[in-house]
Order: sequence, then structure tokens, then C-alpha cells
Amino acid sequence: MNSDILLLRQTFDVELNAARSLSDLEHVKVKYLGKKGPVNDFMKHLKNIEPEMRPSFGKVINDIKEYISASICDKESVLVRQEDNDRFAEERLDVTLPGRTRHVGRKHVLTQALDDMLDILIGMSFSVQYGPDIDSDYYNFGALNFAVDHPARDMQDTFYLSSSMLLRTHTSNVQVRALETHQPPIRIIAPGKVYRNETITARSHVFFHQVELFYIDEGVTFADLQQTIHEFLTKFFRTNVELRLRPSYFPFVQPGIEIDVRCLNCRGFGCSLCKQTGWLEVAGAGMVHPEVLKNGGIDPEKYTGFAWGMGVERLVMLMNGIKDIRQFTENDIRFLRQFTSV
Ligand SMILES: [Zn+2]
Repeated sequence: MNSDILLLRQTFDVELNAARSLSDLEHVKVKYLGKKGPVNDFMKHLKNIEPEMRPSFGKVINDIKEYISASICDKESVLVRQEDNDRFAEERLDVTLPGRTRHVGRKHVLTQALDDMLDILIGMSFSVQYGPDIDSDYYNFGALNFAVDHPARDMQDTFYLSSSMLLRTHTSNVQVRALETHQPPIRIIAPGKVYRNETITARSHVFFHQVELFYIDEGVTFADLQQTIHEFLTKFFRTNVELRLRPSYFPFVQPGIEIDVRCLNCRGFGCSLCKQTGWLEVAGAGMVHPEVLKNGGIDPEKYTGFAWGMGVERLVMLMNGIKDIRQFTENDIRFLRQFTSV
């Protein structure tokens, strides 16, 4: 029997050493100290032994039972400590590590420029009005005094959706709607996308953004147009700009002009940005044509007004020396990240 006890102790030691977790240990405990375990078997066996031998065997069985219980208890405290350490190691927070950088999205350079323009113009008492991208021939051309055979109506320049509906070629389609629904004084900015059926190159695209501005009231003069556009461009370019006005023709204004500013890059000496001319073309403008006022229900004998339109992409390109308009829509993050503000 002593040899059986010795064998039991040896197998128990092996299994105890192999236990790597509290659940392993519980398994060993049930196996050796449970009702169907070997220790209990020895206890049951005790009654078959000679009475005079029982006390000494009883002591041996008690000793092995106490040995197993104490060993399990010791191992349990070791495993509890080890599992706590493992958990702490997993949850350890090193407060000296540098923080993780997260890339925060920002507004597209064109949106930044558009916001900037609207801020300046709202500060000059203009209010924003939007119009539809898809519009009728009447609001895009007819009401704006474009003759039926005007070349801008040509299929080469305009995306027609049907014989009478099209993608607007300018935000001037807002102008007639504003005249129809407002009474002077009218001070409105119309920002938005416009569409032209052109070949996509470094300098032209099938769509771009435009801001149009118009002011209708009694006694509005050409001097008001000049003064307003000078104030706007000076604020937008953050430098006192020098203007040059050239006569031009747009059907919805009379007279019409092209507005140039002295080159911001070379100050007029000539550079690649201004193609050696010393001037940058920034907007088209003029006094609103009496026919356009009439079409909007405004009396041209009593009221006058000016309008000007400018391309947002073009101004951002001039301001930042960007050579290719396609970069605005290519979603190249390396390009876009350069513009934290305009
Ligand atoms: Zn220049």
C-alpha cells in the first residue's frame, strides 16, 4: 500500500506541475480529492485492513490528503498572482508614449476660396442666392439677352439635355429669377457650378465654379462697379490691387468690360503667370442691359445696376501659381494638403 501512495504522490506532482491555469488546477483538485478520487478510494479501503494496522495506514492516507490539499492551495495562490500579472501587463498604459496622430479632414481649396469670397461680399451688404444647375434655355440665355443665333448657345459650348433644357453655362441664371422676385435695391451674390462643353486641358474644364454678383438700384453707376470690384479684389488678394478695365462684349451688359489686375507675381514686369503681359484677367463685368431689367420686371428708366462674374478656379490658380485646372478634381491628397487656408 505504501508503494501505491508513493505512486499517487508522484503522479499528482506531475499533474500539479502541468497545471497552467486555475481551471487546470480545479480539474486536478476534483480528480485527486473528489468523491471518486484515489484518496477517497484509500479511505474506503481502510476497513478491509487488519484493525491493528489501521491507525498507521490511516495516518499515511491523512498525510497524503493534507499534502495534496496544501500543494493545491499553494499552487492556487501562485496561479492567481500570475493571472493578475498577465492581466495588468495587457492593460498597462504607458503615459510617456507620444500620442497617435489623426489626420483631420479639411475643406477643399475651392470651398475655402468660395467661403472667403462670400465672407467678403456678405460684409459688403450682399446676400447669397442659389439657382438650379439644370435650367431652361430661357433663364440661361433668352432672358439674359442672348440672341437666338448667339454662338454661346451652340452645341460646342453648351450641354443641352433637351431642346429647351441645359446645364447652366454661368450662374447668371440666378439674375433673372432674383429680378423677378425682388424689388430694388437688390444686392445678390450667386455662387455655384457651371458647365461648358469644352475639351479638358490644363486651362479649361467641362465644369468649374463661378461667383456672380449684381447690384440694382436707383442711380447705380459705372463708378460704383469699379469701386466695388476694387474693394473686393483688394480684400480677396490681401493686397491693394491695381485694376485695368478693357471694353468687352457680353449680351447681358452694356457696356461690358474685362477686368485685369496688375500681376501679383511680377508687379507688372512680366512673368510666366501673366504670360509676360504684366496683367491678369480676373473677371467679366458691366452695367446690366436694360432688356435684362425689363425681362425681370424692373423699370430700366428708373433703375440701373452692375453685374460681374468670376471663375473661382481661375482666382485660386492665380493666387497660388497653380498651372493645371485638372488638379482641383484629381483628389491627389499631396496637392490638397498644401492648402490649409487660402
Ligand atoms: Zn507676372
